[in-house]
Order: sequence, then structure tokens, then C-alpha cells
Amino acid sequence: MLTRKNLIFLGGPGAGKGTVSNRMIAKYGVAHISTGDILRAEVAKGSPAGREAGAIMKAGGLVPDALVCGMVGERLKQPDCEKGFILDGFPRTIAQADTLNSILAGMGKKIDAVIYLNVPDDEILKRLTSRMNCRGCDAIYNKIFMPPKVAGICDKCGSELYQRPDDSLETAKSRLAVFHKQTQPLIDYYDKLGLLHTCKSTELDGIVAELAAVLE
Ligand code: ADP
Ligand code: ZN
Repeated sequence: MLTRKNLIFLGGPGAGKGTVSNRMIAKYGVAHISTGDILRAEVAKGSPAGREAGAIMKAGGLVPDALVCGMVGERLKQPDCEKGFILDGFPRTIAQADTLNSILAGMGKKIDAVIYLNVPDDEILKRLTSRMNCRGCDAIYNKIFMPPKVAGICDKCGSELYQRPDDSLETAKSRLAVFHKQTQPLIDYYDKLGLLHTCKSTELDGIVAELAAVLE
């Protein structure tokens, strides 16, 4: 069981937030709130929010704070968040972090820990450009570092794997620049609040073990 159960995963694109989150939700039964997954689902549906977000995401920019904060506020009201939640890819700006504080305060909740996955830029670019995602579930693979058993097919659900359009080298570089400019200030923000834990481990099993020690 997690004693610190309301979590934020912070890190650059491709740092492993989604992969580690998937392991944590399987282990602890906490809710997974990935704003990237929520937005991609809206784009696929062709909803008004998806139409607003689609072009921005494709270019590697940030979707407007108000849109993302509204979605997270709604998601946090769902009953599965009572057991705890992982915010993956949110907040990404100081304004989003401030809004999150007010949303949680209004619900009588708070963030218990912020986990920072620190990965060097050259490693991030290698990972992003070889990343593969499942069309059927939210499983994440990597052609080089974490390949599926059968090339192009999800181990978990058998669906086809695809490369996200924003994982091209060009767009990956823009996303990295956006991370440094807009999201990196949050490391200091949460450190000042005494909530930051920077992961020392670099491989998946090590990170999961380290988090068990810090959060259980
Ligand atoms: P990654 O962490 O691999 O970059 P995500 O799946 O978290 O990818 O996000 C994909 C894209 O969705 C981002 O590049 C951005 O356009 C949009 N997005 C996701 N979360 C947010 C957010 N909190 N604020 C603004 N835009 C977001
Ligand atoms: Zn799958």
C-alpha cells in the first residue's frame, strides 16, 4: 500500500513517466491520469477539445492551460482517484501547478510527492525516436530498448503498434525545448515545497523498487 498516494511524475518527454506509471498502477491500483493519453483520445474522437489540441500536439507545443486543467479537474472527481492517483504529464507549467493546487484544495486533497525522472537530452531523443505505442491499450514499447515479443504487435492485447507523429526527430527536439523552458521550473517549485524526489535509479525495475522505498 502507498502511504504517499497522490503523486506527480515529472520529467522530459520520453523520460519514462508513462512506463513507470503503468507499472505503479498495476502494483498499487492507483488511478493513472495521463493528459497526453486523454488528449490523444479526444483527438481520435474528433471532439471540440480534440480539434483545438490536435495541431498543437502535432507541432510539439503545449495545449492551453485552461483546456488541460479543465480535463484534469473533471478526471480527479472520478471515484477511482480515492485510492490515490498518478498525474503523468501534468502539470507542465507553473500556471498549471498553481491551478492544480486550488483544484485539490477545493477537494480537501493534496499532492504527497513529486517524482522526477531525470534523463539526459541525448538519451531522450534516442528513446523518443524509437518509441512505439499500442493502438489498443496504453502500453508503451521501444524498438531498441524494450521491444515487444513480436515486432509491431502489443504483448498485452495483440493490437498493432504505431509511432506517435510527434515522436519524429524534428518534433521531439521541439518538445525537449518546450520542456526545458516551461516545465523544468517546476522542479524547483516542488523542491521548495519539500515534495520533490529525484530518482537515482535509471532502469525500470530499479525505479519501481526505489519508489516502493520512498512511497509505501
Ligand atoms: P511526452 O511526455 O512523451 O512528451 P505526453 O503524452 O505527455 O508526451 O504529451 C503529448 C503532447 O500532449 C504534448 O507534447 C502536448 O502537446 C500535449 N500535452 C500533454 N499534457 C499537457 C499539459 N499538461 N499541458 C499542455 N499540453 C499537454
Ligand atoms: Zn496493447
